[in-house]
Amino acid sequence: MTLRPESASDLLIDGKLTPGSGGVFDVVNPATEEVIGQAAEATAADMDAAIAAARTAFDTTDWSRDHAFRARCLRQLRDALLAHTDEFRELTIAEVGCPSFLTHGPQFEGPVTDLGYFADLAESYEWTRDLGTAKPMGIKNHRELRSEAIGVVGAITPWNFPHQINFAKIGPALAAGCTVVLKPAPDTPWCAALVGKVVAEETDFPPGVLNIVTSTDHRLGEQLSTDPRVDLVSFTGSTATGKKVMAAASESLKKVFLELGGKSAFIVLDDADIGSACAMAAFNVVTHAGQGCAITTRLLVPRTKLDEAITATRDALAGLPAGDPTSSGTICGPLISERQRRRVESYIEIAKQEGGTIEIGGGRPADKSRGFFVEPTLISGLDNSARVAQEEIFGPVLVIIAHDGDDDAIRIANDSPYGLSGMVYGTDENRINKVVNGVRTGTMGVNGGIWYSADVPFGGYKQSGIGREMGVAGFEEYLETKAVARPA
Ligand code: NAD
Repeated sequence: MTLRPESASDLLIDGKLTPGSGGVFDVVNPATEEVIGQAAEATAADMDAAIAAARTAFDTTDWSRDHAFRARCLRQLRDALLAHTDEFRELTIAEVGCPSFLTHGPQFEGPVTDLGYFADLAESYEWTRDLGTAKPMGIKNHRELRSEAIGVVGAITPWNFPHQINFAKIGPALAAGCTVVLKPAPDTPWCAALVGKVVAEETDFPPGVLNIVTSTDHRLGEQLSTDPRVDLVSFTGSTATGKKVMAAASESLKKVFLELGGKSAFIVLDDADIGSACAMAAFNVVTHAGQGCAITTRLLVPRTKLDEAITATRDALAGLPAGDPTSSGTICGPLISERQRRRVESYIEIAKQEGGTIEIGGGRPADKSRGFFVEPTLISGLDNSARVAQEEIFGPVLVIIAHDGDDDAIRIANDSPYGLSGMVYGTDENRINKVVNGVRTGTMGVNGGIWYSADVPFGGYKQSGIGREMGVAGFEEYLETKAVARPA
């Protein structure tokens, strides 16, 4: 089978590839602004059928109990997807606008390969745990704990790292024995729909175990959140939408798992090499044009070295390759849409109005008449109370802020509604550890350390989310615990 854009214009419902009842909608290449094809436009009736199929598959098949079969299906899917790597790479770059180099990692090959990690967990997980005996009310009992799949999972995902986020949900959910309805973002339907085609045509997944519903209608996400046949909603997206999902899910008291926004701090201590720290901070913020929730977007540097840091960061940003995402050297591609570009540009305006200085960038690249590009941008002259330091921009925009020592840096890092990630650069281990312990976030890198991996749980403190994705902790989000006792 060859994957082509036209093969991405179907939904996957109950094991069958079906057209959307609402017709199709356009898919736009963010680097060229061209319509490159169509995706299926699902309606509420399609979503209803998908939820019904997932419910039936969970309630009437052995899927949730047959750990070895699930592991086999997941490995089969991984191998089938990897056999299509070149096609996925091309279509993902065209749809997402992500630089080519990222498709070797989190924008395709990484998360697909990680399906093997979740397959292994399905087989190796301790599904039953012996608690031994106890004498509640004087009667000797033998107790055990059984872990069971939570049921039907509604997975709602954004556009920025579609494969990574889709597989970080469907991988552990399916491995745990759940059935899934995936609703991807309207900006990136192909990444999900093409997976649906591979599932339907090249794997043994039973009908209804994985359903994929593409649509421009956000209300289909609400439908997943409210429908009582869905047991858990696994959501990644903005904090504002996450709050709506949580409120909607409360009606049927279903579990919610939320991966939300971030405004992470890159802390440079005064014993760090300023040049290499600022080069790494610049690289981080332009990777995929800053469209990553865990990207460090506030650069906190010692006040005594502020000028040196501004120069080093400006020089680094000027030297990072930006432009055509199909080129293997490009680090910073376009934003996903005109809507996102307007949002990023509006924040650059807000920074100017609040008295900030644009050290580099701030506009659209002169050599690009097409594509949703914004120049890598460095803003100085503001403190942490500025809106660009408090609110998520989701573009290649870095705000540099002075700190007055390690405690002050920790204070500034924590002065945020978010708590997703962070980085610290320094040489003294005690000082580094104090910062790592002091910053209230779900992940921290030290001197460029990369925590991203299938076995590392990822998630946020505060308004960055609830729960953890990936790792054993991420797998266990999709499990219930049943306690069983019998007289001994
Ligand atoms: P979004 O919150 O607008 O949409 C995310 C998904 O939710 C989409 O599939 C959308 O169709 C759906 N949706 C929209 N309204 C809904 C509703 N009322 N009920 C249920 N579903 C609804 O986010 P976006 O614009 O697609 O993505 C950008 C945002 O996502 C950024 O703010 C970024 O911080 C965040 N994000 C967070 C992470 C993370 O892991 N923490 C990862 C990627 C993106």
